Amino acid sequence: SNDLDVVTHPKLDASVFADKPGNQEKHQFGAEVSRLLNMITNSLYTDHTAVVRELLSNAVDAIEKQYDTQLVKTASGGEMDDIANYKVVVEVDKENGILSITDNGIGMTHDELKSFLGTIAKSGTAEFASAKNKKTNESETMIGQFGVGFYSSLLIAEKVAVVSKNDNDPKQWIWETDATASFHITEDPNGNTLKRGTRVMLKLKPTATDFLEHDKLEKMMKEYFGHKRHRIYLVKPKT
Ligand code: ADP
Ligand code: MG
Repeated sequence: SNDLDVVTHPKLDASVFADKPGNQEKHQFGAEVSRLLNMITNSLYTDHTAVVRELLSNAVDAIEKQYDTQLVKTASGGEMDDIANYKVVVEVDKENGILSITDNGIGMTHDELKSFLGTIAKSGTAEFASAKNKKTNESETMIGQFGVGFYSSLLIAEKVAVVSKNDNDPKQWIWETDATASFHITEDPNGNTLKRGTRVMLKLKPTATDFLEHDKLEKMMKEYFGHKRHRIYLVKPKT
């Protein structure tokens, strides 16, 4: 089903990309991430549909982690989430050029945002990022071969914001980068709107507006839909 009217869903808020007041933390990316970002931003790699696949797979992974966490809690007498509520929501804000993917999976604490999205743990991505002195055409091949996970978002986005809330952290945080050497983390001024989970927001490059088109997005998503049991919704454009 693509009908989102039946489920409550926090409103998409473009002000996530607005300038923040002074209470922002600035962090430097690890050396491998910086190298990877360099390759991605200078890349001519054209199969950008991989971005949607990577972000959806992260969202589904997060839901699976939440499910496992719940199972463990249930084993010691805790209450189970209603599995029917697990969902991934893809939506666009055409006016502001934003593609957004929201899941109500496990989410990330402040420290997890800093380490999971600031350094590279994944072996394939790490291998890719540590490949030094590659000629351009070689790194093109490598993006296709290894996939570059979350960072592939920077193939199509000039800015990425990740809003996240995990049960082990009382606060909801906004992680942000513009693909330079650093990222920022700010407490979400709007409070805990997600309750639990993660929203990845891409401020698309002017060359990537295809990702705002409902039909094209649907087609890209369908390649991923079939074999996944979690419900993945694409919000219909307002008519
Ligand atoms: P991989 O998925 O192979 O681990 P990624 O680069 O795609 O590598 O993601 C890096 C890490 O960031 C993930 O392992 C996960 O811990 C965290 N992450 C990314 N997206 C999400 C999300 N939607 N919810 C929770 N954690 C996420
Ligand atoms: Mg991934």
